[in-house]
Amino acid sequence: MRTIDDLDVAGRRVLLRADLNVPLQDGQITDDGRIRASLPTIEALRARGAKVIVCAHLGRPKGEVKPEFSLAPVAARLGELLGAEVAFASDVVGDSARAAAEGLADGGVALLENLRFEPGETSKDDAERGAFADRLAALADLYVGDGFGAVHRRHASVYDVPKRLPHAAGGLIASEVGVLRKLTEDVERPYAVALGGSKVSDKLGVIDNLLGKADRILIGGGMVFTFLKAQGHEVGKSLLEEDQLGTVREYLRRAEETGVEFVLPVDIVAADAFAADADHAVVPADAIPAGRLGLDIGPESGKLFASRLADAKTVFWNGPMGVFEMEPYSHGTRAVAQGLIDSGAFTVVGGGDSAAAVRRLGFDEAAFSHISTGGGASLEYLEGKTLPGLQALED
Ligand code: ADP
Ligand code: MG
Repeated sequence: MRTIDDLDVAGRRVLLRADLNVPLQDGQITDDGRIRASLPTIEALRARGAKVIVCAHLGRPKGEVKPEFSLAPVAARLGELLGAEVAFASDVVGDSARAAAEGLADGGVALLENLRFEPGETSKDDAERGAFADRLAALADLYVGDGFGAVHRRHASVYDVPKRLPHAAGGLIASEVGVLRKLTEDVERPYAVALGGSKVSDKLGVIDNLLGKADRILIGGGMVFTFLKAQGHEVGKSLLEEDQLGTVREYLRRAEETGVEFVLPVDIVAADAFAADADHAVVPADAIPAGRLGLDIGPESGKLFASRLADAKTVFWNGPMGVFEMEPYSHGTRAVAQGLIDSGAFTVVGGGDSAAAVRRLGFDEAAFSHISTGGGASLEYLEGKTLPGLQALED
């Protein structure tokens, strides 16, 4: 994959696809993490004399102009962080966009309005998407893809524009791909994967693919109850996906056959309601009372999981071990996060809620080797899927 160092950008217009999909409340940005993450590539391009035309999406306006999804507040924040003027285009590929692109001096930065105001951006129709991609590509001489959070989408700005312009990967995508390769090729062993979160159906593809790669798979979170049920245990009122029981049994069988170690919790924090102040107790994982629901892995399981991480050389973690948003059910997630840190392994955290848990529980993000910025994209990569945005940059 070419990087921006391989492009001759001086004096040329570069269309940069970034991930600026920040949370907004009443028009105010509540977390500018993604804007900050985009700065290094923008700065590098400016420093080399490029005219930088940034494009990005915000939320899901579904092909219509909806003022509440305008990127205007992002343009203002980007300008503050860069300490430079950012010309904001009030449309995506119209007169304002063309004027902004043409008006740039070397080292200048413009931001186009929300890509998803245009139906062509996300269209499933190749011709409609292609026609929009033509107009976007016409604004620039070169393309740089740096929106990792969107590379699993076959969208015009991600997939079709790089087919129309000389292109390269920005720093964010290059580093994410470097990390994901370490989790799939030439992995340093033992390789442990800790999976949690709410739904087993969200993670089946990952389990399926990692069963052929990982040495150990630790299961917690809401999905663990489908595993416990598959083993014949009572799970009370816990989250359960009946329709996945067959698939889960098949995974347990395959693991036994191939020597992959599945590590399931030995105790569970079971509550009488889904609430922080519900009556709760630690019970054996094979004896959850019928009227209770499991909201976290128990303390013995936390120790067990940490011990199965301790000697690992590579660890991938996706999905909280319990309902970490409520203090009584946050201890399992804390134990696993600490287990990653103490392992000294190459540690990768993927998933929006997992990354949020790391911050909320007060861990230093720098204590992990990598926290992925694109949950959906990194999971699809680990499922072994071809990601349209990466494929387009490789070609
Ligand atoms: P990520 O975004 O990191 O991929 P998910 O979206 O899959 O993670 O899952 C996160 C959610 O899973 C959290 O909101 C958490 O409260 C929930 N969760 C974890 N354990 C349980 C459980 N035992 N019962 C219900 N929900 C759970
Ligand atoms: Mg999530």
